[in-house]
Amino acid sequence: MPAPADLGVELIGVPEGADLDLDLRLQSVSEGVLVSGTITGPVRGECGRCLREINDSMGVTIQELYAYEDSTTDATTDEDEVGRMQGDLIDLEPALRDALVLTLPTNPLCREDCPGLCPECGAHWDDLPADHSHQQIDPRWAGLSQLTVTEE
Ligand SMILES: [Zn+2]
Ligand SMILES: [Zn+2]
Repeated sequence: MPAPADLGVELIGVPEGADLDLDLRLQSVSEGVLVSGTITGPVRGECGRCLREINDSMGVTIQELYAYEDSTTDATTDEDEVGRMQGDLIDLEPALRDALVLTLPTNPLCREDCPGLCPECGAHWDDLPADHSHQQIDPRWAGLSQLTVTEE
């Protein structure tokens, strides 16, 4: 099943059209069909600290009842609470969306201990020497910091 658009949260999600792997069991119950299983697929995002690309995969577990049209469940529940069969079809997308939003991190990281970026120059700490700092002022310019500009 190709992934629909906008599947995910702000910084991370399943790319549109990505291949989703459905491993689902459909079980007929008196009021409808119970769908349970897992959906796995790739996720792509941006590290919340260093903005590097994240390529990962996710798996969500789904267990949803889809009520038959005109069943008691259909008559007594809201469509938001219990999904509905559409004829013989089941629309998994809302359940998948809900499950994914709960699974995906709101602040994804490229790795657990990502050090992020230097706030001064924006370079990644991984690429910078350990003593990287913006504290020192070049001695040639140090004198300038003493100057004050007076305006009439
Ligand atoms: Zn990072
Ligand atoms: Zn820096």
